[in-house]
Amino acid sequence: VIFKGYIERAPMETDMEIKVNKVELKAPKGSGSILVENLYLSCDPYMRARMRNISSSYIPPFVPGQPIEGLGLAKVLDSDNPNFKPGDLVAGLTGWEEYSLIKKTETLRKILLDDQIPLSYHVGLLGMPGFTAYAGFYEVCSPKRGEFVFVSAASGAVGQLVGQLAKLHGCYVVGSAGSSQKVDLLKNKLGFDEAFNYNDEPNLDAALKRCFPQGIDIYFDNVGGEMLDAALLNMKDHGRIAVCGMVSLHSYYDPKGIHNLFTLVTKRITMKGFLQSDYLHLYPRFLDLVISNYKQGKIVYIEDMNEGLESAPSAFVGLFSGKNIGKQVVRVACE
Ligand code: NDP
Repeated sequence: VIFKGYIERAPMETDMEIKVNKVELKAPKGSGSILVENLYLSCDPYMRARMRNISSSYIPPFVPGQPIEGLGLAKVLDSDNPNFKPGDLVAGLTGWEEYSLIKKTETLRKILLDDQIPLSYHVGLLGMPGFTAYAGFYEVCSPKRGEFVFVSAASGAVGQLVGQLAKLHGCYVVGSAGSSQKVDLLKNKLGFDEAFNYNDEPNLDAALKRCFPQGIDIYFDNVGGEMLDAALLNMKDHGRIAVCGMVSLHSYYDPKGIHNLFTLVTKRITMKGFLQSDYLHLYPRFLDLVISNYKQGKIVYIEDMNEGLESAPSAFVGLFSGKNIGKQVVRVACE
C-alpha cells in the first residue's frame, strides 16, 4: 500500500494505492535486516500526522511513493540479524505490505505464543493503544477510587481500555461514542456505568451535566474540539484532563475554536498532553496487569478485523468517520 502524497485534510482511500512489486524473500547478507511476513497491521489515527509534510512533527512524515509504515505483527522468514531467527513472531514498525524487509529492528518486540491470547491483541490490547490507555490513565490522570471519569471515543482502541482500567480502579465511568451500537457495547460489554451517543445530543454541555451532575474529576480526551470545550465546563475543581489525541480535528485546525479554557484557572484544572512513548519503561508492568486481568475475564477487548491487505486503506480512512467498532486491525495473512 503506497503513500501517494501529502495532504492537509482527512485522509481518503485515494491517498494510497496498491502496487504489486515482486521481491526475493531473503534478508540480504551483511544488511543486518530481517525479512518478515506481515500477519496483522494496525490502523492508528496518529498515522494521519505522517501524511503531512511537517518535519517538526513528533514522528517523521511518510515518504511519497513508498509503502505506508505502521505497527504490526509479523513472522520472521529469513534473518541476517543474530537477534532474530526464522519462525520468531515480532511486533513493531513494519510496512503495509505482505512481506517487509526490516532494517530498523530496535522497535521490534519478540512475542511469545500464548494460546489464551489472540495474536492480533499484540497490536491492540497489548500493543501501543493498550499501553497508551495504561500510561495515560495511571501516569497522567492520577486517579483515585470513587472519582468520576469521562472518556471520549470510548469504544475505540484506547478508550475501551481506559474505561475498563478506571472501573477496575473503583471509579464511576461514562463514555461518549458516535453510534447507538457503540453506546450499547460500552454499557453492556465494556462495563461503563453510562454512555451517550454524541451525535444524538444537540447540546454536549447538557449531556455531560446529565451524566455528571456533580462534575468530572478526570477527562481522558481522545477527540478535542467541541467535546473538550463542553468537558471544560463540567470539570470539578482540581480536575485533571489527559490530552491523548484530537481525532475530531480533521485538518489540525479547529474552525470553532475552544472557548472555555479560562475554566483551567477558575477550577484549578490540570490539563496535560502526553505521548505513550515517554513511558515505555512501564511496559512490563502494563503487560502484567492487563494480561492477568484479561485471563481472569476482568478485561475484554473489541477488535474490528478487516480481511486482506487491499482493505487497509478503507480501514484506515474509516477511523476518521467512526466506521471502526473497536480496535481497527487488518489481517494480511493467517497465523
Ligand atoms: P479509535 O479506535 O478510537 O478510532 C478513532 C475513533 O475516533 C473513531 O472510531 C470515532 O469514534 C472517533 N472519531 C473520529 N472522528 C471523530 C470526530 N470528528 N469527532 C469525534 N470522534 C471522532 O482510535 P484510537 O483509540 O487508536 O485513538 C484514540 C485517540 O488516541 C486518537 O486521538 C489518537 O490520536 C490518540 N492516541 C494518542 C497516543 C498518545 O501517545 N498520545 C497514542 C495512541 C493514540 P466514534 O464513532 O465514537 O466517534
